[in-house]
Amino acid sequence: MAVKPIVTYPADVLETPAEPVTAFDKSLKKLLGDMYDTMLEFDGVGLAAPQIGVLKRVAVVDIGDETGKIELINPKVIAQRGEQIGPEGCLSFPGLYGEVKRSDYVKVRALNRHGKPFTIQADGFLARALLHEIDHLDGILFTSKVMRYYDEEELEEMEG
Ligand SMILES: [Zn+2]
Repeated sequence: MAVKPIVTYPADVLETPAEPVTAFDKSLKKLLGDMYDTMLEFDGVGLAAPQIGVLKRVAVVDIGDETGKIELINPKVIAQRGEQIGPEGCLSFPGLYGEVKRSDYVKVRALNRHGKPFTIQADGFLARALLHEIDHLDGILFTSKVMRYYDEEELEEMEG
């Protein structure tokens, strides 16, 4: 598998709805592997296929908790409730962090790499990461949801 260059804003591919996956073949497995390697290389907690220039409904999420790596193909949010307001960034917007309101709980149905359906429920930061990546597949960027951006001083404090 390979680390791919990340597409940064502005780019049409980031604002175009992605196509559903129909073939669960070797190229899909390679795409998933490349996406995960790329996410880790750039210290992300999630990556959507359009961020490496592929307009397919594929995302990977790994926030470093006990859930581990989540591979989402053709994901759909089937339930969400509550709200959380917190900091959010994106590998396609290096250095940019803003405060974004998201649902606090989410239930997502998706296919795995073999084409088998599964559901995942999450709350807190994992729910935020899932919703951020699923937005990417619809060409929706977090900047359209930012309530306010953090300034440099606040960013330094967050980084410790
Ligand atoms: Zn993003």
